Amino acid sequence: MNGTSRRKFLSHAGAAVMLGTMQPAFAQLSATAKTRLILLGCGGGPRPWRNGYPTSHVVLVNNSAYVVDCGDGVATQLARAGVALASLRHVFITHQHSDHNADYGNLLLLAWTAGLHDRVDTWGPPPLAKMTRLFFQMNDYDIKTRIVDEGRVPLASLVHVHELTKAGMVMQDANVKVTCTLVDHPPVRPAFAFRFDSLDLSIVFSGDTRRSDALVQLARGADVLVHEVVYVPAIDRLVARVPNAATLRNSIASHHTSVEDAGRVAEAAGVKTLVLSHFVPPDDPEITDQMWIDAARSTYQGRIVMGKDLLEI
Ligand SMILES: [Zn+2]
Repeated sequence: MNGTSRRKFLSHAGAAVMLGTMQPAFAQLSATAKTRLILLGCGGGPRPWRNGYPTSHVVLVNNSAYVVDCGDGVATQLARAGVALASLRHVFITHQHSDHNADYGNLLLLAWTAGLHDRVDTWGPPPLAKMTRLFFQMNDYDIKTRIVDEGRVPLASLVHVHELTKAGMVMQDANVKVTCTLVDHPPVRPAFAFRFDSLDLSIVFSGDTRRSDALVQLARGADVLVHEVVYVPAIDRLVARVPNAATLRNSIASHHTSVEDAGRVAEAAGVKTLVLSHFVPPDDPEITDQMWIDAARSTYQGRIVMGKDLLEI
């Protein structure tokens, strides 16, 4: 996002919630930050469909990549976006649903095969540490083979896992400060929204949640809010296309946010730009872009962006 006025930084104090390995030392923020946000996957739900990918995003500051959510295809989408996989530095998982974590391990493994050799920190709810450990165990044969055959540095020791359990400070380095709040996405607990503050941009990712007052607080005054959206009149058509999911309709209705309510959250938080993403349904030809935008416009006066895979905001 170009031309954005510099926003007050460090406005969200909070307690450190890091668990696990040692947290990196806080650093002074770079005065030359130029922050970019690229949407990698904008669909909601883990089921593959014809055109598009489930949820993932990347924030880029000073050639460091901060990935938020790892839906199917995240490594491929980073490559298609022109982001060097070796620039991966931090990975954030909002919650442990497969449309947000299915390629978490693959992102680490495939970035490593693409030349990653620096430390990566990963942040998310339990059981992130177990998932990471078991993923490396599952892929032990390939990893060991490449270390010996291709002269690569060991992978597991590059990855430092931090399990998040409560709201507050997540991490800060020379590029960004990241804070989080608990959102409401039953039965998945904890589920988080993340806020990134750099010197030139503030970006909030809703994760998955029903309408959340905690998210309004986290997003207060942000430049950009990337919010999940459901087009409620289309849920019945979606459920009819998905066999073997007897309670899917109630599940969608009870723990997601309608596009109208996403607009209300953005309006209440006073954000400048609302990015619609995590579309549910992601593949209904009867819902046009204009229908999504009109529904959000009915409750929100600011700038609305229709999320698209590989779109830079
Ligand atoms: Zn979810």
